[in-house]
Amino acid sequence: MNKKRIFIVAGVLVILSAIGSGGYLFWNVHEENLILRSELSGMNESLKLTKENFFRSRIENADLSDRNKNLSQTVREQLDKNTALETQVMDISGVVQNISGTVGTLQKLSQTDKELLKKYSKVYFLSENYIPSRLVDIKSEFLLDKSAPKQIHAGVDVFLTDMLQEASSTGISLKIVSAYRSFYDQISVKTGYKMIYGSGANQFSADQGYSEHQLGTTVDITTSKLKTLTTQFDRDIAYKWLTENAYRFGFVLSYPKGNSYYQYEPWHWRFVGVGLATRLHEEGKYFYDLTQREIDDYLVSIFDR
Ligand SMILES: [Zn+2]
Repeated sequence: MNKKRIFIVAGVLVILSAIGSGGYLFWNVHEENLILRSELSGMNESLKLTKENFFRSRIENADLSDRNKNLSQTVREQLDKNTALETQVMDISGVVQNISGTVGTLQKLSQTDKELLKKYSKVYFLSENYIPSRLVDIKSEFLLDKSAPKQIHAGVDVFLTDMLQEASSTGISLKIVSAYRSFYDQISVKTGYKMIYGSGANQFSADQGYSEHQLGTTVDITTSKLKTLTTQFDRDIAYKWLTENAYRFGFVLSYPKGNSYYQYEPWHWRFVGVGLATRLHEEGKYFYDLTQREIDDYLVSIFDR
């Protein structure tokens, strides 16, 4: 063989081996490529699944948050309803309270003698049948004449006793000359005065039926010194004490100087309740200065302390 041929054969061999190893490499790469591709498609598949899962859970979340919203809306609505109900309940109990208050007032009024705060004159007068619901004896220590018991309306007695005791504790000795007088007592009082004073008796003794004494809420007062009913009483410190303090016990002077109803009687004090007496005292007015309508408002509380 010559050198040239050997060179050619060697060249061909080199080329062939290069092709062979190249083919082998190519084959290997191709194989790997196939594996990678299949792995990639597997990964793609799982990515797709993950994405799907992701979207599904997003939808579910959205659903849940929608439901959440609905639920909190419902809760809010329910709370609003509760509040509305509570308000209604409060309104109703307020109405019930008002009604029971009104019923209480009406009941109290129905049990309170309407005559107790009436103005008596030639126009309005008491029937001969009128007798106070309950009369009690005034404590004898407060009577001018201890041997002749005097009676007073049971509801007024506590106020009268308190007043007389407080006066006594400040050194003022108030004495009761007369208190409750029945219709017939009044006739005999009047007849007695008429026998002495004739028709002039009208000036200082009310006709039967017009006397506040028939109500059992009125007293004629003097002192243990004066011992009689006289206009001189208004110069006594006892009278001054009464004008300053009697209202606190519900008593007022019925017939002041210059009144158009009756003669001046500084000794004649009528119980009208603390509320009305206080108003009259504060306004510098007398019982007969007010209208009957104004006076009527105090009837329900006449015996309140
Ligand atoms: Zn009197």
